[in-house]
Amino acid sequence: MDQSKIAGIGNIYASEILFEAGILPARPADKIDCKELKKLYKSIKNVLNKAIELRGTSDSDYRDTSGAQGGFQKVLKVYRRTGKKCGRCGTIILRETIGQRGTFYCPVCQK
Ligand SMILES: [Zn+2]
Repeated sequence: MDQSKIAGIGNIYASEILFEAGILPARPADKIDCKELKKLYKSIKNVLNKAIELRGTSDSDYRDTSGAQGGFQKVLKVYRRTGKKCGRCGTIILRETIGQRGTFYCPVCQK
């Protein structure tokens, strides 16, 4: 969750990106190896492209310029899914506060 290297990724996308990359949010950035870093960059691209494709996330009152809701909230895998089952392995999704940000993760899929 340390955003000193890659800044400006919101809570929603940070949780979703780390899930896709299989990295625990509590992992220090300097403990991520080269292979994982490549996966992380790929996940950032995939998740943000998906979010753009679905016109953003209507978390509360967000609307796009035509007044429509975003569709990304329908494909969220971990964000705000505390207590629900992970779609990949069935383990219960957990929430943790890291650096004052609420982050959501699967303790099995993410290492
Ligand atoms: Zn899982």
